[in-house]
Amino acid sequence: MAGDKRATRPGWATSPVLLGVALALAITAGAALGILIAARAGMVSARIHAARQVQDPVILGGSSATTPGTSPVALPIVSGSGRRPHLSKRPPLPRWARAYRGVVVTGTVTTEREVALTIDDVGAAQMRPLVDALVGARLHATLFCIGSEMNERAAKYAVANGMELGNHSWDHTSIAPMDAAHANRQIMMTETLIHSATGVWPIWYRMPFQSWGARGLKDVQAADMLAAGVSNNQQDYRGWTGPLLAYRIGADLAPGQIILLHALPGTIATLPQISNELRLRHYRALELSSLAAKTRPALSTADLAALHSRP
Ligand SMILES: [Zn+2]
Repeated sequence: MAGDKRATRPGWATSPVLLGVALALAITAGAALGILIAARAGMVSARIHAARQVQDPVILGGSSATTPGTSPVALPIVSGSGRRPHLSKRPPLPRWARAYRGVVVTGTVTTEREVALTIDDVGAAQMRPLVDALVGARLHATLFCIGSEMNERAAKYAVANGMELGNHSWDHTSIAPMDAAHANRQIMMTETLIHSATGVWPIWYRMPFQSWGARGLKDVQAADMLAAGVSNNQQDYRGWTGPLLAYRIGADLAPGQIILLHALPGTIATLPQISNELRLRHYRALELSSLAAKTRPALSTADLAALHSRP
């Protein structure tokens, strides 16, 4: 028995098979430990990434916007150093646009019978019937979108059918009473949504209720955008539709005007009659940028005074 024990002990210690098994076990344990450390590091990194996403207005805009009707009651503010990566992404305005900065543009100077057709309060729900009616009536227009009611598919549909998209705030509030950060958020969340869907940054902002106030125009300038005003407004939102709406628009027509309509069922149904009215008077409707790029802004004396009083 004793001899047997003495004979087996050295055999266990020196057996190459058993040593190999022990080595393999050690390697496996080491690898498992490595995986655990890597997984832990991955979780930490994912958590940091998630925290950044919460602060990032670009991602926030994209995700909220997929839920129509979501109203961002508490818009998070970019705090501290005022990091605004979303602004740096925007390319500079096109060359023609420089003449239009600093004023609420209410028309252009032209002798051509051309006007800009603009349609406000556009959300995803109205997009397809609106665009189909415009295409059917051979009209081009700038569609001012409410970001919280828009989605990527609708934005793409408009651009694919030759329409220009404009920015009508995130949730249809006037940005005039807001501080600069909130106003910027209202503008840029809608900008980002439309850009991520279409690849195009809208360059026109139209203030809800046209309530520009003293600050509204500055906020739009700070976002490097142009302010779209109105010169032919027949108040379709009050219920004017059909031939009467078309005739009122026609009666007020002048070259270089900006016509305002809304994405309402009655107005959409009237688009063929509006198109006929324009054609009868030898007018052509364009998107706002197409009209503006050909000419220059029609400035009032008050606009000129404001521009020249700037430091
Ligand atoms: Zn509106």
